Amino acid sequence: MAILYDMPLYRPPSEGNNLIVQATIGCSYNRCTFCSMYVTKDYRARPLDEVFADIDAGARDWPQAHRVFLADGDALCLPTGHLIEILDYLAARLPNLSRVSAYATPKNLNEKSIEELAALRETKLSLVYLGIESGATAVLKRIRKGASQDSLAKALGRAREAGLKVSATVILGLGGRAAWEDHIAGTAELVNREPPTYLSTLQLDLEPAVYSRFIDAQEPGFEFQDDAGILAEQERLLSLLDPPRPVIFRSNHASNCLPLAGNLPKDRDALRAIVAAARAGAQPLRPRWIRGL
Ligand code: SF4
Repeated sequence: MAILYDMPLYRPPSEGNNLIVQATIGCSYNRCTFCSMYVTKDYRARPLDEVFADIDAGARDWPQAHRVFLADGDALCLPTGHLIEILDYLAARLPNLSRVSAYATPKNLNEKSIEELAALRETKLSLVYLGIESGATAVLKRIRKGASQDSLAKALGRAREAGLKVSATVILGLGGRAAWEDHIAGTAELVNREPPTYLSTLQLDLEPAVYSRFIDAQEPGFEFQDDAGILAEQERLLSLLDPPRPVIFRSNHASNCLPLAGNLPKDRDALRAIVAAARAGAQPLRPRWIRGL
């Protein structure tokens, strides 16, 4: 029998061609004000026998699968021994397995020792997707991320020390019109302090289910950025980013008005020139009707 997923099921765009196994249901944190992904689910770890049965089904249907994404919202929350049992089972059932990845929260990374993270790396969990959202502590507080710039830098540093690759996402527009400069300055400071392997920018696009929760946690009079404001944020971010190690940069998520791709710091000026052209009206923006999360 094929895997029966507990819906809704989310995975990063780059995992679209890989096998997905739900090690957990929901998100153990589930309080970020902008995030609607798991509002309908109560967090729980799935028993190992259920996860193994899904891996058996996946291996039967797709024996040559070589990459696996562990869903749902933060499989890294699981105790390390439990995760290693899943990773060992994956390796036993999928002979071509080369990489396992999962979403992680900053707390997940900070609660595990570097030795535990390195042990996960050794058993092929080599990539984590981390929503940093912003590097500005005041913005992080208003979106109830449960993290500060310092705790995000610590999480990124621990992953790096353990040999894990991190794909980090930033959400343009989270500071609104009043706090966009703080949002971008703090984000650049964080990335320059502790660069992830990959950095992507998304554009704030709230689902109706979380609109009130997001607004209620903001300062009164919060105003959303329009595309012109988002492009000003993108250009400022690129101008401030100067990571001490190479970062693969993308803004190709479906929410973005202007897709970008390059390597930092090498392509920074070329990327800035594309954004400047878009701000001047010389570069078309992605039409609203084809944007989406
Ligand atoms: S953004 Fe990530 S940590 Fe926050 S509620 Fe959503 S899934 Fe959980």
